[in-house]
Amino acid sequence: MRVVKYPHPMLTYQSKPLRKIDQTIRDVVAEMFDLMYANNGVGLAANQVDLPYQLVVINPTGQREEKDQEYVFINPTLLKLKGVEEGEEGCLSYPGLRLIVPRAKEVKFQAVNLKGELNTYYWKGFEARIIQHETDHLFGKCFYQRATASTTDLDQALAQMTERYNKDLAAGLEPTPEQFADNVQKWENERC
Ligand code: ZN
Repeated sequence: MRVVKYPHPMLTYQSKPLRKIDQTIRDVVAEMFDLMYANNGVGLAANQVDLPYQLVVINPTGQREEKDQEYVFINPTLLKLKGVEEGEEGCLSYPGLRLIVPRAKEVKFQAVNLKGELNTYYWKGFEARIIQHETDHLFGKCFYQRATASTTDLDQALAQMTERYNKDLAAGLEPTPEQFADNVQKWENERC
């Protein structure tokens, strides 16, 4: 498992609801937490590890020891957004990029956990920002599309990432459109 970087096609893919939670999914979740901590993140969406499922992992503290702060959200749905607040965000799929993004201050949402239970959550502030950022990923939307300001040159940063990606693609390190479609089909057939 690896974190895919812009402009990998999975980052603009609209993931399907996950219908089957099995041992593979539990293993995927554990691996996603490992990757998130290794990269000093506070959240990671399945799209970012090349999986077409509506699944995110979050730990607002970013600390592996803070187990009670670990959340697994399957098929999250934002139900109510309240207020707007600008804040700085980064994203593991856009290394080095920091952007100012407006987000709702408070959010009410529902999600299924790893046990298959549907719960309702009320999050605000930084936590609310994280769930909005991660849910966006599941619908193929990335933070730069919502950004109002950038501390770096956004166009230049995206152009550099595209150039690097195209080199990797030419070297066979990234999937061709056919390989990408096959991969999506395989995962969706198994659990969507
Ligand atoms: Zn992100």
